[in-house]
Amino acid sequence: MTTKTPAQYAAEYVRPEIRAINAYHVAPATGMIKLDAMENPYRLPEAMRAELGRELAEVAINRYPDASGAAVKAALRDALDIADRHALILGNGSDELIQIAAVALARPGATMLAVEPSFVMYKANAMLAQMRYVGVPLSADFSLDTEAVLQAIERERPALTFLAYPNNPTGNLFPLADIERIVRAAPGLVVIDEAYHPFAQVSFADRLAEFPNAIVMRTLSKLGLAGIRLGYAFGDPAWIAEFDKVRPPYNLNSLTQSVALTVLRHADVLAAQAALLRDDRDALALELARVPGIRVFPSAANFLLVRVPDADATFARLKDAGILIKNLHGWHPLLANCLRLSVGTPAENAALLGALQSMG
Ligand code: PMP
Repeated sequence: MTTKTPAQYAAEYVRPEIRAINAYHVAPATGMIKLDAMENPYRLPEAMRAELGRELAEVAINRYPDASGAAVKAALRDALDIADRHALILGNGSDELIQIAAVALARPGATMLAVEPSFVMYKANAMLAQMRYVGVPLSADFSLDTEAVLQAIERERPALTFLAYPNNPTGNLFPLADIERIVRAAPGLVVIDEAYHPFAQVSFADRLAEFPNAIVMRTLSKLGLAGIRLGYAFGDPAWIAEFDKVRPPYNLNSLTQSVALTVLRHADVLAAQAALLRDDRDALALELARVPGIRVFPSAANFLLVRVPDADATFARLKDAGILIKNLHGWHPLLANCLRLSVGTPAENAALLGALQSMG
């Protein structure tokens, strides 16, 4: 009979780098104005919700889902204008596609490169896939330090590079010409992560034909469907076919597929919500910039990065006022005293603004 406890077994057999980290923490938000996760604050119109109910009632959940997601892919192409020459892969959120890309490219000794600060799941997935990770700092104003990235590419020869366009958590769009230089210089694959495409309305997609080593990744999460977990990536079939071998066969459940098909028939509704959010982002940025002590950074996404005199104190006071945002202080030296604010409904934005004004 064994005398080892489960904890002793885990300590002995689980990879040390995994034992050393914490699980991804999601702050509890019940009853709060939730402006911490770049969600679309708007629900779907009543008629669409009723339609969803009818469609979901018909889904054969006793069967495995369509493993290829063919209908969803066709609907995405149609609704979001993805050219026929691109092959598509669907993920359980684009989080899963980041993981798939890392696993596919993690040859022994392979390196992943990203700028910092950027989306934290790039680095996390490098570790999980046992890739070496190199982070290249942005400039102090969060602009791209293109020369530093090019030097790092030369030095590190990354197999996989992630560039968020626009970037999270900084919200800015790196210049397209600089992205082109990076893609040209990179020896391996560059994933252009366009998670915030509905708010930036610019894309690398039309340029893919010129760059054999780039693909574009997007998500429906920020567009209003964060709850169904549906991300997608597209590019040359040579890349997508390899990623499809890594993808778990039934990664997109049938409820997600059904919701996507129904909602994408009304893509204009989501587009109109995104347009509202873009206008409200710009209005909120102007108002926030007038609050003494607050610096607002330019954003092409559905959130604003701001710097305040004391981020911990501001975060705590907003939380007391029932408003949940993201405190980035301590995440990266460049983010000292920075907060990330998702754009909410006009009422939510007004509550946030009022609370920040009253702290001045
Ligand atoms: N990429 C970027 C740049 C993001 O900010 C996020 C979400 N925060 C994601 C990818 C992942 O989105 P999802 O898994 O919901 O598709």
